[in-house]
Amino acid sequence: MRTDKESIWYEQYPKEIPLEISYEKKPLPAFLKESAAHYADHHAMSFFGKQWSYQQLLTDASSFANQLIKLGIEKGDRVAIMLPNTPQSVISYYGVLMAGAIVVQTNPLYVERELNHQLIDSGAKAIVCLDMFYPRVMKAMENTSLEHVIVTGIKDALAFPKNILYPLTQRKNNEMKVQVDYNETTHHFHKLIEDGESVIPEVDIAPESDLALLQYTGGTTGPAKGVMLTHYNLVANTTQCLRWMYKMRQGKEKTLAVLPFFHVYGMTVSMNLSIMHAAELVILPKFDPEEVLKTIEKQKITLFPGAPTMYIGLLNNEKIHDFDLSSIEACISGSAPLPLEIQQQFEEVTGGKLVEGYGLTEASPVTHCNLIWEQRKEGSIGLPWPDTEAAILTQHGQFAPKKEIGEIAVRGPQVMKGYWNRPEETSAAFKDGWLLTGDMGYMDQEGYFYIADRKKDMIIAGGFNIYPREIEEVLYEHDNIQEAVVIGVPDPYRGETIKAFIVKKEGAEVNEKQLDDYCRSQLASFKVPRLYEFRNQLPKTSVGKILKRVLIEEEKEHRTSG
Ligand code: AMP
Repeated sequence: MRTDKESIWYEQYPKEIPLEISYEKKPLPAFLKESAAHYADHHAMSFFGKQWSYQQLLTDASSFANQLIKLGIEKGDRVAIMLPNTPQSVISYYGVLMAGAIVVQTNPLYVERELNHQLIDSGAKAIVCLDMFYPRVMKAMENTSLEHVIVTGIKDALAFPKNILYPLTQRKNNEMKVQVDYNETTHHFHKLIEDGESVIPEVDIAPESDLALLQYTGGTTGPAKGVMLTHYNLVANTTQCLRWMYKMRQGKEKTLAVLPFFHVYGMTVSMNLSIMHAAELVILPKFDPEEVLKTIEKQKITLFPGAPTMYIGLLNNEKIHDFDLSSIEACISGSAPLPLEIQQQFEEVTGGKLVEGYGLTEASPVTHCNLIWEQRKEGSIGLPWPDTEAAILTQHGQFAPKKEIGEIAVRGPQVMKGYWNRPEETSAAFKDGWLLTGDMGYMDQEGYFYIADRKKDMIIAGGFNIYPREIEEVLYEHDNIQEAVVIGVPDPYRGETIKAFIVKKEGAEVNEKQLDDYCRSQLASFKVPRLYEFRNQLPKTSVGKILKRVLIEEEKEHRTSG
């Protein structure tokens, strides 16, 4: 296959962004060490009024690493981290990496079955969890290789405000009254850190081949698979991000860390980027619009990586104009399409920049982004990042001409080694060294990319290929609609037909007939939804991406039972 190094998109880059980067071939924690060497007393993170300096973070992480080694954790062992965004998540993440072990990020909302699958699949030898999750971990231990459970509590030195944490657990009453029996295999996180040696342990890490992370992702079918990301993958993607955000001032930025660190997007664009650039992570464990607005004003946040639903949530909060949000300089929105309306309104309110980017777990995650301070294009995910090649492939695996829709494929230093213990899925994910993203899209004459939809989300109705995204965009432009999602449902005549789920704006009224008239005025008739369902809210992932899969499943169940 061709190489795209000379491609047109590089002509769009401003001179400040390099086309190629020479990456420092170091393990990821080396960047924490460097930030601590130059900015020892600067705040590395803050959490509800309590701060950690870079030196303190380095000391705590080193101490945790030494204690893991004492517990028998060896290079290459897997250690699960099941925490909401907290200082402990950052300390344990860097500690595990310093010990040469592999982080397995675990969603705190996992139910027993999901947790058990992940622990067995990854072969994790230890898990770090919040005490509220301890009973769930205990129940999910069967057939796992867990030897150690490390528990951190809400009543410890880093006390959390309870009202913030309640919604993070599905069983608030039971999980709040947790009794943990500490013994040889169940350890107290803070005691471990207090008793640990604070020199960085000497572990030989080969950044290009040694894994840093197993990041579980749903994939299209079957249970979640572990994406294998090396230290080099993570260093590369963080460095690419740093070069892209070239106006960032080292040691001076404040990042609002509300995207979960246990998702690869929050991990790279919020946590690792901040640590590499000696910024301050202002940590929030949960997205609560008013808390976010308050925090931006009080802490004078400059960077706010988020997901579209977060910006939508803030704009729909009636108090938004009561806060001074003018400290915001740059926000990258990813993980789902960013409606143009939202982008414009958010930029007006804050005076900062909000641009859309794109990525996937398999690419650490970012591969594309709009330029922040120069030309960006409406509805586009932007240009491929430095050192990142991107192509559109036809059904037959050929390169598609410009503007033709096909599958987006990428190559670059941020692309995964493969799926953990799944050689078949790994080879199916690549074609001639290109990662197949499963997203359908096209490239315009200037090299900007556009997403049409997920390959699997495409609806085929009456022989037409329909991309739900296009219909959703139209619905989002309607004054009375807050959120909209479109799926295909079985239809005896057309194969599939289009169904839209709608969340109305607070206090707004709109009915099916009005929506039908509106869609008919905006879309070819074969794209007009035939069915509407109004809901108070839609199911979402931890980063606020609407879970289409859940709606499709509900629809199936409803049809078979009805
Ligand atoms: P994940 O692996 O959970 O990060 O999900 C990756 C998927 O999110 C991609 O394959 C896309 O389908 C979707 N995605 C990410 N960014 C965008 C975007 N800007 N617009 C549309 N879809 C996106």
